[in-house]
Amino acid sequence: MTTVAAYAVPAAKAPLERTTVERRAVGEHDVLIDIKFAGICHSDIHQAREGWGEAIFPMVPGHEIAGVVSEVGPGVTRYRVGDRVGVGCMVDSCHECENCRAGREQYCTGSGMVGTYNALDKNGEPTYGGYSEKIVVDENYVVRIPDGLALDVAAPLLCAGITLYSPLKRWGAGPGKKVAVLGMGGLGHMGVKIAHALGAEVTVLSQSLRKKDDGLKLGADHYHATSDPKTFEELRGTFDLIVSTVSAPLDFNAYLSLLKTEGTLANVGAPEEPVALNLFSLLGGGKTLAGSMIGGIAETQEMLDFCAAHGIGAEIELIGAAEINEAYERVLNSDVRYRFVIDTATI
Ligand SMILES: [Zn+2]
Ligand SMILES: [Zn+2]
Repeated sequence: MTTVAAYAVPAAKAPLERTTVERRAVGEHDVLIDIKFAGICHSDIHQAREGWGEAIFPMVPGHEIAGVVSEVGPGVTRYRVGDRVGVGCMVDSCHECENCRAGREQYCTGSGMVGTYNALDKNGEPTYGGYSEKIVVDENYVVRIPDGLALDVAAPLLCAGITLYSPLKRWGAGPGKKVAVLGMGGLGHMGVKIAHALGAEVTVLSQSLRKKDDGLKLGADHYHATSDPKTFEELRGTFDLIVSTVSAPLDFNAYLSLLKTEGTLANVGAPEEPVALNLFSLLGGGKTLAGSMIGGIAETQEMLDFCAAHGIGAEIELIGAAEINEAYERVLNSDVRYRFVIDTATI
């Protein structure tokens, strides 16, 4: 066991404070990672405040981890000391179920995926995330960060990047396809960059036109305000695919009307409350309302290689650990362009 410094939430809704946590000894198939950067994901805040139900405290959030391997277990074959690596939303799963064997570990039906934090590891100990100096992870749940990608802008790709890449690929974003990204925050801005790099014609649907210049600069072809009713008239029947990153309640019937025949509205954000849906919005036009959650390990590696090849990193504001609590407030106020990343050397 190793004691490492970390920033933790001691109890639900309490501010984060500096503390220490124990990391397990490096096992046969484990790598020890010196964490360099950790992104702040909106879901860190949901969990720290128990917005998604009962949580485990103290909690060290952080599932957008970029760092360097500093020790490997005797059975490790994929990584060596000095390798640049990342860890996303999961650190284990059953390895055996149909989904794990198919590379969809995030949908593990055996033991379920083990979250990078706010979960119990197979040994029954709580997992602690990336707001810390070091982490020990099974090499099968670690991905390689290509040399062309700086670690700070790569960190948010481990959650925000894969969360958008997976549905964009699955529902065929590419040349000749009209894709809308709903929401222009940490997730949405990655969707714009990735959909553009995939060759799709990209539209941002955002509440206001406040971030229009950014959206166009990051690769959007069009930008519309959803607060303007004319948007819904003008864009009726336009999109092959809409990816919604929004976690506020939405008028799904209105957004489904923006799809072409047989188009898909894929959700990666989830409102805390159930939503109302008139099923005629799906029947007429044979439309699909779908969901997607992060991506598998192999797909996460594919995403990182794709982003490196296209020069894509997140747009970030780098902060010190002492600024995490303030950063949480700013995320809740949608006051970040577009992802806070913690320089873990400041922990
Ligand atoms: Zn996340
Ligand atoms: Zn499984």
